[in-house]
Amino acid sequence: MFIQRCKNCSKEFQWKTIINSIWSGYKPIECDNCKSKHYPKFIYRFIVALSIALPIFFSQFLYGIFKTYLFIILAYIIWVLVVVSIAPFYFRYYIKD
Ligand SMILES: [Zn+2]
Repeated sequence: MFIQRCKNCSKEFQWKTIINSIWSGYKPIECDNCKSKHYPKFIYRFIVALSIALPIFFSQFLYGIFKTYLFIILAYIIWVLVVVSIAPFYFRYYIKD
C-alpha cells in the first residue's frame, strides 16, 4: 500500500490531494509538478462507495451491539472517516490519452 505517483513525472501525490478529490465526488487530480490530469479509476470509486455502504447491510446486527441510534450514527461517522483516510493508499488514477 502506497500513495500513487504521477504517471507522467513520478512525483508522489499528497494524501490530502487525494482526500480532497474523494470528498468532492472523485474529482480528477492535477500533478503539482507537471500539471497532468489524473482521473480516478472506476473500480476504486466502487470499492470506496461499497465500503462506506457496508455497515448499512449489517444495521440490524449493529443495532444489537450499539443499542441506540446515537451510537450507531457516531460509529458510522467514524467508519466513514476511517474508510476515506485509508483510501489514498490504494486508490489509483489514470491519465486519459
Ligand atoms: Zn507529474
